[in-house]
Amino acid sequence: MHIARFTTDDDIRFGVLVGEPDRATELAVISGDPLYTPVRLTGERVLLEDVRLLAPVIPRSKVVGVGRNYAAHAAEMGNEVPAEPLVFLKPNTSVVGPGDPIQLPAQSAEVHYEGELAVVIGRVCRDVPRERAGEVVLGYTVANDVTARDLQKKDGQWWRAKGFDTFCPLGPYLVTDLDPADLRVVTRRDGEVVQDGRTSSMIFDVPGLVAYISSVMTLLPGDVILTGTPEGVGPIVEGQRVEIEIEGIGTLSNPVVRRR
Ligand code: MN
Repeated sequence: MHIARFTTDDDIRFGVLVGEPDRATELAVISGDPLYTPVRLTGERVLLEDVRLLAPVIPRSKVVGVGRNYAAHAAEMGNEVPAEPLVFLKPNTSVVGPGDPIQLPAQSAEVHYEGELAVVIGRVCRDVPRERAGEVVLGYTVANDVTARDLQKKDGQWWRAKGFDTFCPLGPYLVTDLDPADLRVVTRRDGEVVQDGRTSSMIFDVPGLVAYISSVMTLLPGDVILTGTPEGVGPIVEGQRVEIEIEGIGTLSNPVVRRR
């Protein structure tokens, strides 16, 4: 099921794609928020072209990021592969939706895209054994873990480098019936392919990340885990567009502007 969070310029609602995701033109509207209530169709349908898609989830408490989770990306940054997951937090205020601009802040001269698979948590959970990780995951979406690379290198903590407003585009859909083990992740900058990896290359897989992170902090419905980026990260400048496509989910596309 591909779940969209959308607006038609009044209230925010949810809907599921009708038919084959690649060819869908309609959403079947559902009642309530699928994070908290079972999916129930209202019977109403809306055309995709008549709605504005929003981030499929606004993380209730946190976005948990994982660094250097692909060996080739760790190597391109001149880093060793970590012995344990390298975890950081992004504030939920960094989240924007499909089509929303990524705003380049004045404090940075080098902002990078990072295409990533995002895990959306569906239940309050703590100390989840890896064998039971699937029970606490509601689904998956696409993320861009936008990073001010110069500030990341300069600051001991990554709160700024990863935390500016608009530095966490999510979308276009939350997909509930997806095996995350081996999905193609492709990033395009102005149409040119700059990242092309597979989630099977992750050092720590999704169940391992859920287990590791939940051994430290309680995860809430709507919390999001970013699972790391494949090799090929690079800069974005004003006027460009970044598209991240993950097999089975769809394409997240965002223009780049300068923050004013
Ligand atoms: Mn990342």
